[in-house]
Amino acid sequence: MSFINETHDINLKSWISSANVAGNDFPIQNLPFASFRRKGSSEEFRGGVAIGDQVLDLAVVADAGIFSGIAQEAVIAANAPALNEFMGMGKAHWSALRLALSKALREGSEQQSALESALVAQDDVEYALPCHIGDYTDFYTSIYHATAVGSLFRPDNPLLPNYKWVPIGYHGRASSIGVSGQSFPRPKGQTKAPDADVPSFGPAKRMDYELELGIYLGKGNELGDAISIEDAEDHVFGFCLFNDWSARDLQAWEYQPLGPFLAKNFASTVSPWIVTTEALAPYRTQWHRDENDPQPLDYLESSHNREAGAFDIQMDVLLESEKMRADGAAPSKLSESSFKHSYWTVAQMVTHHTVNGCNFIPGDMLGSGTQSGPEHEEAGSMLELSRGGKESIKLNNGEERKFLEDGDKVIMRGWCEANGFNRIGFGRVEGTVLPAK
Ligand code: CA
Repeated sequence: MSFINETHDINLKSWISSANVAGNDFPIQNLPFASFRRKGSSEEFRGGVAIGDQVLDLAVVADAGIFSGIAQEAVIAANAPALNEFMGMGKAHWSALRLALSKALREGSEQQSALESALVAQDDVEYALPCHIGDYTDFYTSIYHATAVGSLFRPDNPLLPNYKWVPIGYHGRASSIGVSGQSFPRPKGQTKAPDADVPSFGPAKRMDYELELGIYLGKGNELGDAISIEDAEDHVFGFCLFNDWSARDLQAWEYQPLGPFLAKNFASTVSPWIVTTEALAPYRTQWHRDENDPQPLDYLESSHNREAGAFDIQMDVLLESEKMRADGAAPSKLSESSFKHSYWTVAQMVTHHTVNGCNFIPGDMLGSGTQSGPEHEEAGSMLELSRGGKESIKLNNGEERKFLEDGDKVIMRGWCEANGFNRIGFGRVEGTVLPAK
């Protein structure tokens, strides 16, 4: 099965010159979607597509009426403050709009003059959440993260016996998900030091981030109907960067027996752009399960999932302290990893989530879980990098951290590279911890 089509051709160039600059996140092969408006304006938010350093305003494109058939239906649906209707239309519509946009933005396109007025500089816009996220489920798909965190919380029993059989997840909270630029007060709650008799109440002392991908569901499923692994990716509209902020001291005290609660639900931040599953086709890779590990049960197994179910999405995380901002110093890189290390694929997550008949609604989001790689330096959280707060993490400017301090801004980036294809990027997700209220 080939997922590659003419929209992925490395030779395509755009009449928007910034899209052709090597290394930029948004060449014509990417075409991700967001909800945007001019910064500081009272305009309605509406759908936009990133191209170079510009946003293509889908309200203008829809009104121009230059597309036809289901591509025109799709762009009309995407001209809305939230993209749920467009996302719910399914793969044929997503793909038709992507092809129409690719053709319209290519060098020599006859539609150039009609679209020149549809461009707004990314520097001049602000973003909303790209869709209404009705429900959000966070998975735990990096076995390296699960093992490292498990060994800190349960040294004698780091990886629980279900991990290698079940794509583990919990139902998160959608109301506190914000778009990049989000800031929030340090959460307060109950914590209990190991040597204390009783818990105490106050601001979390072990504030952390989690380097994750967000996965947006497009077409949903009826309550009671499962999505087979063969059909799973037809339901996945696209991916974003996702910071699942975590208060580790709250987590350690509350997480048993029912899992994460107040340690996670005070804020979670997504990047504004959704990179579509179709745009990610060139960066697919084989998924395999170590022969010494249990192999997936039949409902989580398919040849396609083995051949191309994983995605090589590279990610890194940087920290910008208050001092760095004051000094005009560059943020300090903390780690780098890839989603290709995931123990479970997106298709397996989608299939497992619905195997009991649970229904997805367009715009629902899955978190991938913290994407730590096999090496310690590839850890996707400070809990792991500081070995549970035992070691200091040295920053570029000489500062040190074990966990986040007030004023710290966390920046995550993502990108994909593959031989014979252009590099595409996710932009970034940024968020800042403020002092407790
Ligand atoms: Ca998480």
